[in-house]
Amino acid sequence: MREYGRLRVYEVNLGSYTLLITASGGHIYELITDLSGGGVDHLYGVARGKGGRFIPVYGTIKRCANGHQIVVEGGKDVKECPICGAPIETDTETVIEALRDVALEVDEVLVGTDPDTEGEKIAFDIVNVVLPVNKNVRRVEFHEVTKRAIINAVENPRSLDLNLVKAQLVRRVEDRWIGFSLSSRLQTDFWKGFCREILSSDVKESRYRRYAELCMTYRNSYRNLSAGRVQTPVLGWIIDTYRKHEASKTLFIKLVLGELSLEIPIPPERRKGIKRDIVKLRVRVKDLVRSEEEVNPLPPYTTDSVLYDISSKLKLPTQRAMQILQELFELGFITYHRTDSTRVSDTGKAVAREYMQEILGSDADKYFRPRSWGEGGAHECIRPTRPIDAERLRSLIEEGIIEPVRRISRTHFAVYDLIFRRFMASQSTPAKVRRVRGVLLLEAVLDSGEEVDLGEQGFEVVEEMMFDGFNRFYRVIYVRRPPEEGLYEVGKELFQLKEWYTQPLHTYASIVREMKEKEIGRPSTYAKIVDTLFKRKYVALSRSRSGIVPLLLGEKVYQYLTSRYGGLVSEERTRVLERKMRSVEEGKVDYYSLVTELLEELTDFKLLGR
Ligand SMILES: [Zn+2]
Repeated sequence: MREYGRLRVYEVNLGSYTLLITASGGHIYELITDLSGGGVDHLYGVARGKGGRFIPVYGTIKRCANGHQIVVEGGKDVKECPICGAPIETDTETVIEALRDVALEVDEVLVGTDPDTEGEKIAFDIVNVVLPVNKNVRRVEFHEVTKRAIINAVENPRSLDLNLVKAQLVRRVEDRWIGFSLSSRLQTDFWKGFCREILSSDVKESRYRRYAELCMTYRNSYRNLSAGRVQTPVLGWIIDTYRKHEASKTLFIKLVLGELSLEIPIPPERRKGIKRDIVKLRVRVKDLVRSEEEVNPLPPYTTDSVLYDISSKLKLPTQRAMQILQELFELGFITYHRTDSTRVSDTGKAVAREYMQEILGSDADKYFRPRSWGEGGAHECIRPTRPIDAERLRSLIEEGIIEPVRRISRTHFAVYDLIFRRFMASQSTPAKVRRVRGVLLLEAVLDSGEEVDLGEQGFEVVEEMMFDGFNRFYRVIYVRRPPEEGLYEVGKELFQLKEWYTQPLHTYASIVREMKEKEIGRPSTYAKIVDTLFKRKYVALSRSRSGIVPLLLGEKVYQYLTSRYGGLVSEERTRVLERKMRSVEEGKVDYYSLVTELLEELTDFKLLGR
């Protein structure tokens, strides 16, 4: 290990060549924020040159002692934070200088940033930084941090994908323009109106009172407000789902019948009068039909589905989940976690084969069924990089055979375990089960002796696992013995009346799933969007209702935005834009025309331009 300024450089000898490995630590350039621009016509960090062409102006990233990020044009002389006055502590300028120093000493520079549009933009910057000192620069791409993948990448370098870089530039400019224009309207115009309403004397509701102090402190503007093309529609879903949730309160009977536990909604017209007085239930089980079925495994994880499971099974917020995935990737335990591909490479299939042969021996043939789950492309599903399950990984680390460079928590193992199992299941044979379907007829007997018909309810259950197949690795099938046909009397101790909501609230998990289904947001932004809504205090977590509820501020912000800028932040407009950005990535749409379109749109809404 050697040090070049702040940069640590590791030397690895691979026989025919030696690799010097270092990390840029993320972005080295960012759009500038100062708007003065010395005579240049600036639109929030984007200069308009001759003939109206746009030039995004990037600068190095400085950070003050209090963590403020400062990016200004020609910022070399800035020694103090313009926000808080604290001294500047770090500047990516030093990373850039160190990268040049290293580049001077080597024959070839290989840039191995993350395999997505953001990574391509960082690669683009690094290439430009070292090009003056070393002409021999190429891009390498790997989706897992393993020796095999890295050697393969090093031996197959490619040139930069400028379409990806352009797509990232458009995304950044779009974010910046929407952020600075729409968000600044919220921070001043909206905020003043909101506070007038809050502080008006006739409002006594407690929902309102909690904001009064905030309005007194920040009279004319409040910076913790933002809007966005993805953020705002998602806020709308949470509000909408909450309304449906509120309207969906229903009386349920919770009932245990043999090994079956059922929750049966009572039709509204039969609800009246029976709430307290049920003495017993009569349940007729009929029309049982048995069938043998094959059940297929689910595909391996993509970003949205892994976030869904981590959130619902491990109860982790999505932002924390992404952090753990990032760490597992960097440790070389899993493939790249920002992906919407379910494809399994030959390497992946080999990992599954090796694992199954090792733990199942001669039975492996019965369980191993390699599947590709999609075709072509460099992108892959999220899967383990080695045939080592969570339990063995833990003991290998305890024995010091694997020495991870960071501490591995129980949560890391739990997330790895999910990924490992889901992947093995995806490479395994179908399960064979015997399923039973039937109908329950329900009747309540009241205190008065009166009998009330509660309608009928279908049910189905797996009564026998004939072959477990993939379920051995990732359990989705549970065996329960169904009741036989006949009439059952169910006493008070075996049922319960409960008021609950048929429409569940949104959760971290369901929001991410909806974003994926509706093509709003991308693997790299799913977690951040949800997190932002919490940080802005637009929404909150309700433990008693197990879901996310909108707060008054969130509702008002949404109202303000949709009434004034509805066309800008609508779900449909966002979806169309996302598709266009993907077309830029594929080189099918000129990024320049898209930037122009965005500017015209924002000008039409009187948000940009002059
Ligand atoms: Zn500062």
